[in-house]
Amino acid sequence: MTLVVKGAAPNGQDAIVGTRPSDGAEHEPIEVTPIDTIPDIVRRARAAAEAHAKRSIDERAMLLSEAADAVLSDGKHLVDLIVAETGKPRAEAWLHEVAPTAELGKHWSEEGPSLLAPHPVSLDPLSYPKKTAIVERVPRGVLGLITPWNFPLAIPLRTIFPALLVGDAVVLKPSEYTPRIAHRLGCLLREVYGPHLVSVVVGEGAAGAALIDAGVDAVSFTGSVATGRKVGAHAGQSLVPVALELGGKDAAIVCEDAAIERTCRGLVWGAFANTGQNCAAIERVYVHRRVAQQVTARVVELVEALEPVRDFGPLTTEAQRAIVERHVTGARDAGVKIACGGARLDRDGLWFAPTVLEDPDESLEVIQEESFGPLMPIMLVDSDQEAVERANDSRFGLTGSVWTSDLHKGRALARSLKAGVVTVNNHAFTGSVPSLPWGGVGATGFGVTNSHFALDVLTRPRAVVVDGYRKPELYWHPYGEGLERVGERVAAFARAKGVRKLPALARLVSALRKR
Ligand code: NDP
Repeated sequence: MTLVVKGAAPNGQDAIVGTRPSDGAEHEPIEVTPIDTIPDIVRRARAAAEAHAKRSIDERAMLLSEAADAVLSDGKHLVDLIVAETGKPRAEAWLHEVAPTAELGKHWSEEGPSLLAPHPVSLDPLSYPKKTAIVERVPRGVLGLITPWNFPLAIPLRTIFPALLVGDAVVLKPSEYTPRIAHRLGCLLREVYGPHLVSVVVGEGAAGAALIDAGVDAVSFTGSVATGRKVGAHAGQSLVPVALELGGKDAAIVCEDAAIERTCRGLVWGAFANTGQNCAAIERVYVHRRVAQQVTARVVELVEALEPVRDFGPLTTEAQRAIVERHVTGARDAGVKIACGGARLDRDGLWFAPTVLEDPDESLEVIQEESFGPLMPIMLVDSDQEAVERANDSRFGLTGSVWTSDLHKGRALARSLKAGVVTVNNHAFTGSVPSLPWGGVGATGFGVTNSHFALDVLTRPRAVVVDGYRKPELYWHPYGEGLERVGERVAAFARAKGVRKLPALARLVSALRKR
């Protein structure tokens, strides 16, 4: 669905209008970036990146601290925009979006310089006499950053900060549902960095595609599997590196020895935070049959106590609510018991009640596909092993959790989950911990944010080798039998074991002398 309205901006340009998910009121129009201006935006970004990369790493780290401060100082305004565009509770807007900026800025400005320091590599002096080598990380140049609407501040920031630290420029294409937050962020960062280093392209999907075509040096994409496939193919055509962070269908495993109260509260938070519109939301719970009744009853009690506005928001998009309704209808039609929720709330806007489904069959869409909404299916299992097998039987693999009082067992079970982040007695809270990698396997894609692993798409390695040897190298032309013999004896020496090592070395030295 496109939100672009022709000529809706005050100056007659096309604009994105859209409505507030919480009550359907219309947003102020925001001007769309004309697609034919995107190549120029990328050109200016490249010039800004070249100048920025020449700054010392300490200067870039200092600027990053200033940027974090600018975002935090504007927190209230950003929270207002986040609540207006996504509908999420104010507490979540502060805690999941704005407040993590402090740790993000601190992490990259303090750890970045050592992560980026050139790394000496020692070369064997016999094979490579008088040669020294270092490996350094070189900024890619201009990063095209394409982001979704569910964490419209936190997701862009977790890539923009390390990108700016390494010396890249960023052109951000936010979701058409949340352009105002990105626009505000762009203004704040321009105050610190000047024009062009961070630019925001406002538009729909076609603007994202145009950004890749405009000659960016790398692409970082977070979004759905379907769009991720297109973006991956497009970046492949353009031969630029791409990081894809896609959907999830996270499982939580509840063992029979789990601490019931903490587990139930954790499950409810894991499933219903951000109204379930979280790539790492708990979308499948596998609970041991012996505690299933107790767990389900307590979860339902907690879910029924959740208050709209205070504890959960509406769905952010009409399309998302349609998916959630289709999954619930499919389950209901198949005879699944809906323990609570299961219907729209009687309010304006895109509200849907937090819903618990009892033991749906694995073949149903609600178990196979990402719901990205306030649904918690609880399935019964007879053993931990069965729970792990069923949890792993998914094309997605972002995060997973195990709930047990036996931490040793929990660690072992967690490590047998096919997922990028596994937790024991908690779920997916590390999305905003910048020192830990965040990424998945399978249809969740191969992008990694946070930690030094995130630097791989933002930088490229450069090996710098300096040779102080004054004679011609042994392996240079002219070739001949002598060199062939050296090659043969190098291989024989490498393979020789024990007492055969010494004679093999003597034969190699003799071949070297004759060369
Ligand atoms: P989409 O894939 O629909 O959109 C993501 C971004 O891509 C948007 O900015 C969108 O623009 C843009 N886009 C659309 N078409 C193209 C195209 N052809 N070329 C380039 N860019 C394009 O995802 P949603 O915004 O609906 O986000 C929800 C999804 O994101 C869920 O599947 C969720 O699991 C995933 N996600 C994954 C995370 C992770 O860390 N693994 C974290 C958060 C979300 P527009 O909106 O204007 O169409």
